[in-house]
Amino acid sequence: MREYSRLWFCGALFVIGLLIPLTQGHAEETTRQDLVRDGRVLELHISSEYTESMRQNLVAWIDFIATAMREVYGHWPRQRWQVSVAPVSAGASDPIPWAQVHRGQPDRVEFFTAANASVEQLMHAWTGYHEFAHLLIPYKGSGDAWFSEGLASYYQNLLQARTGIISEQQMWQKLYDGSQRGIADTTATGQTLTTASNKMRQQGGFMRVYWSGAWYFLAADTRLRQQSRGKLTLDLALKKLNECCANARLSVPEIVAKLDQLNRVLLFQSLYDDLVASMKTPSFEPIYSSLGINLVDGRVTLQDTGPGARLRQQIAAGKAL
Ligand SMILES: [Zn+2]
Repeated sequence: MREYSRLWFCGALFVIGLLIPLTQGHAEETTRQDLVRDGRVLELHISSEYTESMRQNLVAWIDFIATAMREVYGHWPRQRWQVSVAPVSAGASDPIPWAQVHRGQPDRVEFFTAANASVEQLMHAWTGYHEFAHLLIPYKGSGDAWFSEGLASYYQNLLQARTGIISEQQMWQKLYDGSQRGIADTTATGQTLTTASNKMRQQGGFMRVYWSGAWYFLAADTRLRQQSRGKLTLDLALKKLNECCANARLSVPEIVAKLDQLNRVLLFQSLYDDLVASMKTPSFEPIYSSLGINLVDGRVTLQDTGPGARLRQQIAAGKAL
């Protein structure tokens, strides 16, 4: 039995509609297969309702995105974790219409997919990268949803670029487009990010919350790299957090204090204090300028040289160039 569990409220939930998992109300029959990397174990539970060829596609897809997860700190965030996959009943344009993360012992990522989808389609869906990225930090309990959703929204794009699913230019474009959706979201006008985040389930305003959070991680990553001339990165900061506290339950204020302490910086806390009081999604443009990214009519172009270009390329590549 889980010590505690929590359903993360992710972007994929917007499109649930009337899609009902086929397994709902039935005893779930699954096949189990373990993936092992770096001495760590991922238990993969796949519903028996899939065809054999689809089951193979799902294994190939999960293996791909699980491998992508090693691009952040070199190994999976958990010693043992689970992924479960089940089909939805209705045809869906999105190959992965619904997903959620259950925190417990062990953590479990639950995906609901179309009954049939190619490996290519599954690999190009952002949902898998997003859900896995939630596990990059310890369980944070309730509150500050913007923090975990921002982390997942930032890393879903980095992971896709680092595995070659999208180009570096596409990565910065997607992050920028997300920020524009955040800025355009007026649901929580007049509310601080803390209030908007706490009321998100009741009132909506997901884009403001998600992309304010993504700004936080982009800002932290950029400042860490700039201040340390590339020696410190968000990847390494999260790795240190994982090493000390993977099994801990920490609030977001505790996590940001820990990140400052572990990296000997004064950065995560002050960014946090500013952002939770913000009244709208911050513009990404000043950060983009510092990274050698030009914006013309909302289209991103990348400078090849210049002080920011190398740091920017390192964010997308995931390792020192
Ligand atoms: Zn999410």
